[in-house]
Amino acid sequence: MKFHQPTSIREFLELSSTLSSHSSSLLAGGTDLMPRYERGQALPDHLIDLKKLSDLYHINIKDESVQIGALTSIQAIQENQLIQAEFNALYMAAHDFAGAQIRHRGTIGGNIANASPAGDLLPALYAFDAILTLIGPDGERQLTVQEFILSPGKTSLKQSEILVSITLKRSGYKSIFQKVGLRQSMAISVVNLAFVYSKKGQDYQYLKIACGAVAPTVVNLDKLTSTIIDKSSKPDDWPLLIEADILPIDDIRATAKYRKQVVINLVQAFLKGQFNG
Ligand SMILES: Cc1cc2nc3c(=O)[nH]c(=O)nc-3n(C[C@H](O)[C@H](O)[C@H](O)COP(=O)(O)OP(=O)(O)OC[C@H]3O[C@@H](n4cnc5c(N)ncnc54)[C@H](O)[C@@H]3O)c2cc1C
Repeated sequence: MKFHQPTSIREFLELSSTLSSHSSSLLAGGTDLMPRYERGQALPDHLIDLKKLSDLYHINIKDESVQIGALTSIQAIQENQLIQAEFNALYMAAHDFAGAQIRHRGTIGGNIANASPAGDLLPALYAFDAILTLIGPDGERQLTVQEFILSPGKTSLKQSEILVSITLKRSGYKSIFQKVGLRQSMAISVVNLAFVYSKKGQDYQYLKIACGAVAPTVVNLDKLTSTIIDKSSKPDDWPLLIEADILPIDDIRATAKYRKQVVINLVQAFLKGQFNG
């Protein structure tokens, strides 16, 4: 296996184009990739380490949006004051993420491109309608996170492309993240949820609930939330509306039945105001 370390995006694009007929992988923090190789996944012919791409480490605050470079570490997200103030669900997800070593090493880009249904940053990114910027030989393109993640471990990243940044609109919405795991951190989530909302009195004016580890990809519980906004559902209707958007499976961490019940309990608790303002 050959190891490459481009120092600019242009160098990356030249390199990845010349390698297009070979097997290659991109390496960010390596906290997903390296354990996969240790478990026996075949090594690629070429490994492209992204860590010298200095343009991919940033949290740029603009008037209307925040742009997070793909190599920004989970720890840097947790420490950023604006993310803490305006994107609380993302802050909480970074805070509850693994232990300190993994938070310093692992990146937001890696969490997205790994496309795990249980990735902890993903529910917040879905619920905040994150826009991803990709660069490849044909130029730049933007996709929503839903368009990017196709199925477990599969994304719409093209050959020779790279995820460069994640943009979040500064909407002023409140948000919260909930993670249920076998332990609080250093454990893959059994279920994780992000709630993004604005309320006037008791009424929701905006509500998105994104849920991880209950379907092949993170899902927005749109069937439920649309009926909360237009007030067409009653609490007795909520469990069935939640079930309509999820498709959990049994695995070594939990049964599908348990996952379904956890989601229903957490969403009901949220809607009854038990952990939101
Ligand atoms: C002990 C341990 C605990 C963990 N705990 C958690 C946890 O609590 N929550 C959680 O969600 N995850 C957890 N993880 C998984 C992992 O740490 C995260 O998914 C992390 O965000 C991955 O980032 P990375 O930079 O290490 O990715 P890498 O391993 O470097 O890459 C992951 C994948 O993304 C691709 N990739 C990376 N960057 C880019 C890019 N810029 N453009 C295109 N493709 C890219 C790589 O090619 C690879 O396929 C844990 C892992 C370990 C080992």
